[in-house]
Amino acid sequence: MSAVNNCIFCKIVKKEIPAKLVFENKDCIAFPDINPKAKVHILIVPKEHQEGLSVLKDSDQGFLGRLMVAVPQVAKKMQLDSFRIIINSGKGAGQTVFHLHLHLVSPDGVVA
Ligand code: 5GP
Ligand code: ZN
Repeated sequence: MSAVNNCIFCKIVKKEIPAKLVFENKDCIAFPDINPKAKVHILIVPKEHQEGLSVLKDSDQGFLGRLMVAVPQVAKKMQLDSFRIIINSGKGAGQTVFHLHLHLVSPDGVVA
């Protein structure tokens, strides 16, 4: 697991900053967004630090695949019938934390 100094999500991965984990496997963690934009708003964060989608290469297919297959597992845990996944890539698109993450948002389910 690579970690980057002063990256808030690396600190949450390393449990240096608390977050209420709703899911964890060997590749990623998931926890509620501190500023939710929907009834359910979970961040799914890979344990490996990558700045964002735009830096990924062919060799990151496995990394990205493992992250994406966690989505239905988190959704099931949160009892979501339907949901949306958002990835902000770049400042202009609203990315504020430069550690790749998925926003899982839904009007359904249980609030963590
Ligand atoms: P971005 O704008 O980069 O796509 O998403 C970053 C998200 O991380 C924002 O929605 C913001 O509310 C959330 N966030 C930032 N810092 C923290 C934190 O310390 N804890 C949690 N739970 N969420 C955070
Ligand atoms: Zn990081």
